Amino acid sequence: MTELLKNFVSGRWQAGTGAGTPLFDPVLGTDLVRVDSTGLDLPAAFAFAREQGGAALRALSYRERGALLAAMVKVLQANRDAYDQIATANSGTVKNDSAVDIDGGIYTLATYAKLGETLGQTSGNGRFLVDGEAARLSKDGGFQSQHLLVPTQGVALFINAFNFPSWGLWEKAGPALLSGVPVIVKPATATAWLTQRMVQDVVDAGILPPGALSVICGSSAGLLDPLQPFDVVSFTGSAETAALIRSHPAIVQRSVRVNIEADSLNSALLLPDHAPGSEAFELLVKEVAREMTQKSGQKCTAIRRVLVPEALYGAAAEAISARLAKTRVGNPRNESVRMGALVSRAQLAAVREGLATLKTQTAVLHDGATHSIVDADPAVACCVGPTLLGARDPDAAPLVHDVEVFGPVATLLPYRDLAHALQLVQRGQGSLVASLYGSRPAELAHAAVELAAWHGRVHAVSPDVAAQHTGHGNVMPQSLHGGPGRAGGGEELGGLRALNFYHRRAAIQAGSAVLAALAG
Ligand code: NAP
Repeated sequence: MTELLKNFVSGRWQAGTGAGTPLFDPVLGTDLVRVDSTGLDLPAAFAFAREQGGAALRALSYRERGALLAAMVKVLQANRDAYDQIATANSGTVKNDSAVDIDGGIYTLATYAKLGETLGQTSGNGRFLVDGEAARLSKDGGFQSQHLLVPTQGVALFINAFNFPSWGLWEKAGPALLSGVPVIVKPATATAWLTQRMVQDVVDAGILPPGALSVICGSSAGLLDPLQPFDVVSFTGSAETAALIRSHPAIVQRSVRVNIEADSLNSALLLPDHAPGSEAFELLVKEVAREMTQKSGQKCTAIRRVLVPEALYGAAAEAISARLAKTRVGNPRNESVRMGALVSRAQLAAVREGLATLKTQTAVLHDGATHSIVDADPAVACCVGPTLLGARDPDAAPLVHDVEVFGPVATLLPYRDLAHALQLVQRGQGSLVASLYGSRPAELAHAAVELAAWHGRVHAVSPDVAAQHTGHGNVMPQSLHGGPGRAGGGEELGGLRALNFYHRRAAIQAGSAVLAALAG
């Protein structure tokens, strides 16, 4: 039997009482470890975090909590090699793709540690955040209204997706812990090992007060039941699970605040008049191929729809396909391999099914099936080559605007003019990110504003930033992550904006002397 990973709740490591669910190596098919949450006293675990963890965190200032994050960063950096090995084994990712998750998570945590330093002066006594200027309520200004943000006195429950076991934890935990709110993380079962190991390292280092960080691995059964009015839930995953969470009685009846990051049909748009050979054209081609293959396309922000002017459809298909053809797919332990595996047999089946669905309304421009699988048994490894589809009449292909295939798959769509292109992008019903490729600042700015209403982030790429831009799919802690509509309607990151979710806003109406006393 493989090792059974323990849960850390109520300040203790606790094994589930069931047989456990095995986690697999998606390349070799071998069993790795097991997870189980059967028999945990969840109400007690939530109460412990809320009462002990919350009180201890709130007793510190923002600056002091920022210092805790900085200490956590050091511990995670020191153990990085172990995380890399777990990612290779459990996520089947090549080194660069594992780094997106591991280093991306650590970088995001480090960013919030630094932001904590900036809150020392501006926050009231280090215990709350001042929100805007005081407003006069009386004629002479003797009685005023000052808005404050105070840390919510509950737990932050994170329910995470399988594709970012590191980043998914730290991009949420950084803002929550900095805010003074204790964290309980429930990673997706398939890749729970990395999350569990990182939490273990932080716990063992004794940096955080008891109850500040808990991890529950395994089934989500009963997980939402102990939620109380001041708790918050941050969910990342499928739209189906999101709908279950939104409608859960504990959330509906107790007004528990929920943030949802769900699926998304992100677009890349080449603006008109950029012929093959132009820098903008080449930048689009490069980014599309990169986005399709990074983490085998298992990124919520990956490009799913590629829009180009009608006249460039053939040239774009050829150029993207030529890049994809060079991608070596297979065992991430083989140095020549650039793209590893999907995370599980279930994901492999879902990608194949999604591809079959999209193929009913599209043509295959580059077929992933033509890629041989390097250094792995194709009957066992969850590996697929990248596939570029194309819909010559994108108005008549509703599925490409609706079906998210969570793998190395994108669809090329020709447009007549910019208005048509924007209309097609909007058919995604709200996405996390759209990227624009062009060379004229005014046109890029115009299109960016047009797309802003439908996206949490618009990424404009022009030749002058070719070597500097951070990538369509890379989520930077300085920028908002989340999208309206189908993308879940959530907001994460965006620098200090992320702290809003973990705070409660209140207006303090009082005389000037009281407001002066507030500021300390
Ligand atoms: P999922 O099946 O919805 O699972 C997400 C999480 O929810 C897992 O931890 C899962 O636990 C848990 N869960 C399942 N049923 C639940 C329930 N009834 N109550 C509470 N929790 C429950 O999604 P996934 O397959 O892991 O992730 C893929 C999807 O996530 C894609 O659609 C992708 O677009 C989206 N995604 C979005 C973002 C973003 O930031 N917007 C980022 C990454 C992924 P178990 O694993 O134990 O079932």
